[in-house]
Amino acid sequence: MTRRFRAAVLRGYEDPFAVEDVVLHTEPAPGELLVEIAGAGMCRTDLAVRRSAGRSPLPAVLGHEGAGVVVASGGGPGTETGVGDSVVLSFDSCGHCRNCRGAAPAYCDSFAALNLFGGRAQEPPRLGDADGKALAPRWFGQSSFAEYALVSARNAVRVDPALPVELLGPLGCGFLTGAGAVLNTFRAGPGDPLVVLGAGAVGLAAVMAASGA
Ligand SMILES: [Zn+2]
Ligand SMILES: [Zn+2]
Repeated sequence: MTRRFRAAVLRGYEDPFAVEDVVLHTEPAPGELLVEIAGAGMCRTDLAVRRSAGRSPLPAVLGHEGAGVVVASGGGPGTETGVGDSVVLSFDSCGHCRNCRGAAPAYCDSFAALNLFGGRAQEPPRLGDADGKALAPRWFGQSSFAEYALVSARNAVRVDPALPVELLGPLGCGFLTGAGAVLNTFRAGPGDPLVVLGAGAVGLAAVMAASGA
C-alpha cells in the first residue's frame, strides 16, 4: 500500500527545506511503526546538515524531534507501543551492541550510522518524491518533518494521551540533551554553580533539571 503526504525535503546543502508531496511505498516492517506527526521541533542538528556540517545522504527528509500518534505497527520486538498510542520520537539505536544491552543506547556503537549517516535512499524507494526519486527516509530513525513518519519502535516513547502531543517533540532531543547534561554529565548537586548560555529547549531543560537537582 502506498501513502501520499507532504514532507519538508532537503535536496542539497544550503537549499531551503521545500514542502513537497511524497509517497511512502511500504507498510511498517517488524520493529517499525508508522506515526502521524502532530508536531516536530527544529534542532540545530537539522540546520547543521543544511550547512554541510554533516555528511548525511541527500535528498532527505530531516526532523528528529517528532511527536504524534501511531497509525500502523509492523509488530515484532519493541512494538508493545501500538496503534492509537501517543509517542515522542528520539534517536535510534541498534539494540544489540554492548552499550545498548547495558541500557546506554545513546552510546550505541552504530549511533552515527543509524542517526546521522544512515537511512540512505534505497531503490526501489521506501520513500519517494512525486517523480518517483528516492528520498533518504530515516534521519535519526524518524524523518519527522513530514505528515507521517516510518520510525524504529526503539525510538518511540509512549506518552500520556491527555498531554498535547503536538508540543512534546523537543522532549526527544533538546530536553533530554539539556537535562542530561546537568543530571548525567555534570552530575550537578545542590550548591554547585551552573551557567546556562541560551534559553531554547536545551537551555531551559538544563535550568529545569538544575532546579530540581
Ligand atoms: Zn537535536
Ligand atoms: Zn547499539
